Amino acid sequence: MAETIKTDVLIIGAGPVGLFAVFELGLLDIKTHLVDILDKVGGQCAELYPEKPIYDIPGIPIVTGNGLTDALMEQIKPFHPTFHLGEMVLKVQKLADGQIHVTTDRDKVFEVKCLVIAAGGGSFQPKRPPINGIEPYENKSVHYAVRKMDSFRDKRLVIVGGGDSALDWTLNLQPLAKRLTLIHRRDDFRGAPDSVNKMRALVASGDMDLKIGQVTGLEGADGQLAAASVKGNDGTTARIECDAMLPFFGLTMKLGPVAEWGLKMEDELIPVDTAAFETNIPGIFAIGDINTYPGKLKLILSGFHEGALMAQKAYHYIYPDKRLVFQYTTSSTSLQKKLGVA
Ligand SMILES: Cc1cc2nc3c(=O)[nH]c(=O)nc-3n(C[C@H](O)[C@H](O)[C@H](O)COP(=O)(O)OP(=O)(O)OC[C@H]3O[C@@H](n4cnc5c(N)ncnc54)[C@H](O)[C@@H]3O)c2cc1C
Repeated sequence: MAETIKTDVLIIGAGPVGLFAVFELGLLDIKTHLVDILDKVGGQCAELYPEKPIYDIPGIPIVTGNGLTDALMEQIKPFHPTFHLGEMVLKVQKLADGQIHVTTDRDKVFEVKCLVIAAGGGSFQPKRPPINGIEPYENKSVHYAVRKMDSFRDKRLVIVGGGDSALDWTLNLQPLAKRLTLIHRRDDFRGAPDSVNKMRALVASGDMDLKIGQVTGLEGADGQLAAASVKGNDGTTARIECDAMLPFFGLTMKLGPVAEWGLKMEDELIPVDTAAFETNIPGIFAIGDINTYPGKLKLILSGFHEGALMAQKAYHYIYPDKRLVFQYTTSSTSLQKKLGVA
């Protein structure tokens, strides 16, 4: 049986805009859950430019992508949002009674009064490596993410890539695997130097293998890998027997399932009104990079503004009989109590 979670608002996307929406909704006593396909919060800031400085966040002259994400997480702490990371929203359905049903790829079902789509440029999805005939093995013995480490116990594993994900999973899975081989196209790694040193130490002690070259072909049957061929940079070809392969070639943004939710779309974006950033379906809002309206700027500060106005309208769906009184955090003791500062 699928697990059903009932809450006020579900936010799809834990990028900067989704995170700040938790704050604006929280000030109005609205409880939130967030789902993100990534295994971390911060969206583009955390995934695409964690160390790069941002110079146009109002009142913060300079902050990195990770720094902004950390600050937003600190700011929303008083509202105890629940995160469902590493999970993709697949289906959205508005029911006749006004409730909205949302289903994830892990069969979790949310029943909510309002839905906020803060899905940015869409879902981050793994880049497929250029290996002919890889498709039949995908999700059977070729995996782009590690959902359960134990499923790789006592297996002959091949990890492909030279960045942090490839190195982190090499270090985490090497103790479980029967034998682990890391394959990278050159003997130079983009990952953290400490991880590179640890990986090289495991190779030196004979506890894992490192192969410099490119995977050129796969052998196996019915989706089950038996071996990978690797063409070395010296021109030689090696056959590496394996039960599973984990390629880490980075992530790319694709619109993904958003287009199938019955919402009006314009050039892969969701048109909204600018009074509340509501979509054509009442109770479903779209904020941040995913929306479009005349004059839209894909900036973090625009998404913050959109979240504030969205929350004002969402309040009326959550508390239809209550009047909303506008208050400042500077002077309202009630808001300060919610923030835990009064
Ligand atoms: C290199 C670079 C530099 C930038 N510099 C600046 C800058 O200096 N200033 C500025 O204001 N902006 C900058 N931007 C733009 C800024 O990063 C975006 O405007 C901002 O990230 C949008 O935030 P968001 O929360 O709307 O979406 P995102 O940050 O894209 O987050 C959306 C999240 O939704 C998730 N998601 C999508 N679909 C689903 C689904 N179906 N199920 C579950 N999760 C889903 C995604 O995985 C993602 O984590 C920059 C962008 C880039 C790429």
